[in-house]
Amino acid sequence: MLNADRAARTDQRTPCVLVIGGHDPAGAGIQADIETCAALDCLALTVVTALTTQNTAGVHGYRTTDPRELQRQVELLASEFPLDACKIGMVPDRHMAAALVELCDGTLRGLPLVVDPLLRAGSGAPLADDDMRAGWLDLIARASVTTPNRAEACALSGGTTVTAAAQALLAQGAAAVLVTDAASTTDSIVNLLFAAHGGAPIHYAMARFPGEYHGTGCTLASAIACGLARRLTLGTAIEQAQAFVHRAVARAHQVGARQAIPNRQAARDE
Ligand code: PLP
Repeated sequence: MLNADRAARTDQRTPCVLVIGGHDPAGAGIQADIETCAALDCLALTVVTALTTQNTAGVHGYRTTDPRELQRQVELLASEFPLDACKIGMVPDRHMAAALVELCDGTLRGLPLVVDPLLRAGSGAPLADDDMRAGWLDLIARASVTTPNRAEACALSGGTTVTAAAQALLAQGAAAVLVTDAASTTDSIVNLLFAAHGGAPIHYAMARFPGEYHGTGCTLASAIACGLARRLTLGTAIEQAQAFVHRAVARAHQVGARQAIPNRQAARDE
């Protein structure tokens, strides 16, 4: 669909965001994506790459879904719904990555694409095979924006500084790289946006809330996808998404024994 057609259509109807990622029963992954899209008045169409067994204290394992079935499911959704943006989260192995690359180059071509690369859960347990680096780079090459945290950016690119890592990911083909929590400061979170044709990175700084939270990265990436689905510029989509995450964390559900869960529903009100 041409951009102009898409813009005209999203004026009149609910934007549709295709979210592809892992199911986390404890509130990150697909669950975070659904809640974020709903809070931002977008429809989440969800395709699951893996079922994880975890709570916020740790990952006990995961089971990968069938990449061919996943492809058929995406084709089926795309044949019915006017997709406005796509967000990719957990991709457990290179077979799934290859299936997604085929989709990005085929059915999903031209769709704004947010790639949120994931190597490990916050607890440190792996959520992707050791050889997924190349698979992530293939997906990042097709992204409108990719949202690695500092550790992910360095691990995927081989860069030893945030700037070197971001430049290497841009060189792969990503249109923009938002490195989250890019600086080591205890009282603020600094996100840095590097654009393929830009000069110095754009700095975004926010107060850091005390405590630990589960699923903030997924929430941010999904909220950016919602902004892109509404045809916002990338800069505006990122600013609005960061403000949304900030509100969701400020009102987080403090119900489990470990990490708090961002309250995406409460974040919609302001
Ligand atoms: N996706 C899944 C399925 C997960 O289990 C997790 C973390 O446990 C994530 C994504 C990433 O979570 P976060 O947003 O905290 O980086």
